[in-house]
Amino acid sequence: MHVNIVGAGIIGLATAFELSSRGHTVCIIDPSPGQGASHAAAGMLAPAAETVWGQGPLHQMLAASNKSYPDFVNRIQAISGQRPDYLTSSTLVVAAEPADREALHELVELQTSLGLSAQKLLPSQARNLEPALARNIAGAVLCEDDHQIDPRSVVRILLEYFQSDLVLEQCVEVIKDDKNQTTAVLTSSGTRLEAEQTILCTALGTVRGVQPAPVRPVYGDILRIQGPPGPALVTRIIRGIVHRENVYLVPRKDGSLVLGASVREDGNPQVNVGAMYNLLDNARRLVPGISDCSLNEVIARARPATADDRPLIGRIDPGLVISTGYSRHGVLLSPLGSTLTADLTEHLPASAMLKDVDPYRFPTYSSDTLLEQSS
Ligand SMILES: Cc1cc2nc3c(=O)[nH]c(=O)nc-3n(C[C@H](O)[C@H](O)[C@H](O)COP(=O)(O)OP(=O)(O)OC[C@H]3O[C@@H](n4cnc5c(N)ncnc54)[C@H](O)[C@@H]3O)c2cc1C
Repeated sequence: MHVNIVGAGIIGLATAFELSSRGHTVCIIDPSPGQGASHAAAGMLAPAAETVWGQGPLHQMLAASNKSYPDFVNRIQAISGQRPDYLTSSTLVVAAEPADREALHELVELQTSLGLSAQKLLPSQARNLEPALARNIAGAVLCEDDHQIDPRSVVRILLEYFQSDLVLEQCVEVIKDDKNQTTAVLTSSGTRLEAEQTILCTALGTVRGVQPAPVRPVYGDILRIQGPPGPALVTRIIRGIVHRENVYLVPRKDGSLVLGASVREDGNPQVNVGAMYNLLDNARRLVPGISDCSLNEVIARARPATADDRPLIGRIDPGLVISTGYSRHGVLLSPLGSTLTADLTEHLPASAMLKDVDPYRFPTYSSDTLLEQSS
């Protein structure tokens, strides 16, 4: 089968990889591949540390996708000869103040009840693991199974692998036959690309002829900093709660650190100075040594967010599937999301999880609206 994949972020590329591994040919269409949210993401694979009350079935999805990560990474290495930067060092969640510690400890009950690894530590125990932590932290929780990957390494490897299948243009329209089935897409240069199936992995991007998915931009400012020469400042992900605000430091193999991330719904795609200031202030409260780092990069990107943080994976017509709305978890959910999307594209029997990501779970997104729009 030949499949058009619109959007070359981590979701489009992981889906192309999954379908190509199953013997299908792909055409990937994107004017600026890998430059969306996937370019900003810290790449925390944190089913335990990301757990919050009221997430519903998202917990199971995050945990399942985290479990399939080693296989996902090994398979990418097997086809490309290159290994993504995947690290299985743990995550330490640190509370700055006693009130932050209470919030942290409340979550441990939920995390352990869901079978996730979360262990309370005294401040001294946390500092034994990470000596760069401030002396006055109030408490910590160790999440052994929360790992990390550099999403830029995944995107770079898959873009190289699919180089000859890439069309560097915007997809402006889906083309349907007289039975309302998508049969091709039209690009910005007027090129018509036929395929048996088309998958939209466009995050917040829209395409004429398809009802916009119920996603909204949630902006995040994020920094890349470089530690001083010598031993790494921290050896595992440090997530902090400082006066109820979240901050994290993700150490990379090359000695750099990712420091993030703000959460803004102000509609401004530019880096926000106030948000950056807060991040740096909170991070320095937990790890004072970041003051000696140099600044490599500051960027802002939009998370493609849904109302319940669960993605939207579903069939729109017999030739069209969407896979978007991965919110804060797109990197972690790449293995699971790409598998579910490939199953749907191949018309395989539906996994039980597909009902939890059905785009039609939102009343504003209905097949009736689709028909009205196209008539
Ligand atoms: C600051 C920040 C930190 C994050 N940290 C994490 C983290 O630690 N862990 C985690 O799991 N997730 C994290 N996320 C979330 C994660 O980045 C996203 O969920 C994920 O990248 C979504 O991937 P995507 O491929 O759907 O979107 P994108 O990477 O945005 O890709 C969409 C692509 O579609 C293309 N496109 C759009 N419209 C069209 C069109 N009409 N024609 C052709 N192409 C089109 C765009 O050019 C783009 O390349 C973070 C996000 C942000 C912003």
